[in-house]
Amino acid sequence: MINLESGSSNGNQSRDRNQRHLERGVADLLPDGNVAQYAGTAMIRCVLHDKIVSLKKTRFTKMLIEANGLDPDDFQSWLFSPGMRFHSPDKWWGDLGRRDFPHEGIDFCLFRDGSGRVRRLDHDTRIPVMHDGVVRSVFADYLGQAVVIQHKQAQPDVGTLISIYAHTIPLDHIKPGVIVKQGDIIATIADIRRSKAKILPHLHYTLGQPSSYLSYEPFVWNDMRDPDLVALLNPLGVIDWPYQVMETR
Ligand SMILES: [Zn+2]
Repeated sequence: MINLESGSSNGNQSRDRNQRHLERGVADLLPDGNVAQYAGTAMIRCVLHDKIVSLKKTRFTKMLIEANGLDPDDFQSWLFSPGMRFHSPDKWWGDLGRRDFPHEGIDFCLFRDGSGRVRRLDHDTRIPVMHDGVVRSVFADYLGQAVVIQHKQAQPDVGTLISIYAHTIPLDHIKPGVIVKQGDIIATIADIRRSKAKILPHLHYTLGQPSSYLSYEPFVWNDMRDPDLVALLNPLGVIDWPYQVMETR
C-alpha cells in the first residue's frame, strides 16, 4: 500500500507519467469537506425478487486490515468516488465518460488513514473472502482475473449468494471446486502497471443472488448484467466499516 502522492518507481517513463497524471487526477477529486460520511448500520434492507431481505455485515474490512498488516486505528474510512459505487453510470478513470453498463458492484481502491490522508490499495494487497463458499469459476477480465464464489449458507433467509472478486491475481490453488473459508486469502489485486488502461489498481466486488439458469463454466462478465441470471445487490450494505462518498466525479 502506498500513498497517492508517492507515485510509481517502476515501469518506463511514459507509463510513470501516466500514473502520476492519473494519481493527480484522483487526488484533485478529493478536496477536504467535499465528501459525505456514512457509518452504516448493522444490516441493510434491500429488495430481491420483489421480496425485502436484510443483508448482514461481513467482517471484510477487518479481515483485509489483518491480512495486510495494517493498524485498524489507522484505517478511518473507505473512500468512493461516485463512479466507484454500485449502479453508477459513470467511469472514474480514463475520459470519465459513461460506462457501457451501470456498475455491477463497487470498487475498493481508496481509503483515509487515521490522520485523514488519502491512501490506496495496491497490487500487493491480499484479498480475504467474505463468507464460506466454493469457487465456481475463475475467468479473465480486462485488468486481471475474476473469482466467482458461491455461498450456500451465507444467509439462510436470503438463500444462495455469489460474490465476485475481479481485477485480481488469484492464488495458484484457487480453482473451480475449491472450498474456501471466511477470511481465507484468495488473491492479490492485479498489477496493472503494464495495462494501457489509465486506472488505479483496485478490487471490483460484486454480490448477487444467482438464478437456476446461471451456469458457471464458462462464466463471463456479461452474466452479471443479465437479471435473469444474477440479481445484483448493493455490496455497500455488507461492508463493516465507515465510508465516505465524494460529491464530485
Ligand atoms: Zn468495478
